[in-house]
Amino acid sequence: MAVQRTLVLLKPDAVQRGLVGAILSRFESKGLKLLGLKLRQFEPSVFEAHYEPHKSKPFYPGLVKYMTSAPVVALALEGVDAIEVVRNMMGATNSRKAAPGTIRGDLGMSFSSNLVHGSDSPESAQRELALFFGDARELVNWSPVATPWIYNVAEELA
Ligand code: UDP
Ligand code: MG
Repeated sequence: MAVQRTLVLLKPDAVQRGLVGAILSRFESKGLKLLGLKLRQFEPSVFEAHYEPHKSKPFYPGLVKYMTSAPVVALALEGVDAIEVVRNMMGATNSRKAAPGTIRGDLGMSFSSNLVHGSDSPESAQRELALFFGDARELVNWSPVATPWIYNVAEELA
């Protein structure tokens, strides 16, 4: 159990389909703390770096093209075990196979255009947050008043 930060991207299909609010609302309602939020049509170089671990895969060029085809929304989220919590909320990569109740399972039909990205490890989170929120001042340190109602502070945040 550790407080973690993670990078979430609402991908071009989420923005084009008008699902930014619906998806952001799920993370907000879950109790994840929003530290950063940015809408931008990023340069290809940003996604080439972001998806560098997939560089050798056949889908890599198409993936970079898709991610630059419209704006994306980048979110920095924080919470206890936030990386795993977000991954579970996203569902399987193939939206057609993603479990109902997950973002992809409820809102999508595509393998590749699958609405959302979430960091998959603490190392990825650190690397990806630096890419999309390079200046540390872009992440806002604030104290949600609901924190003691979202967590058992003595057990989970001590
Ligand atoms: N992707 C794709 N074809 C594939 C595998 C992945 O288009 O065969 C895309 C898809 O958008 C996916 C992203 O590449 O979300 C990154 O792949 P990864 O396996 O890391 O899936 P994720 O972590 O996003 O579930
Ligand atoms: Mg991944």
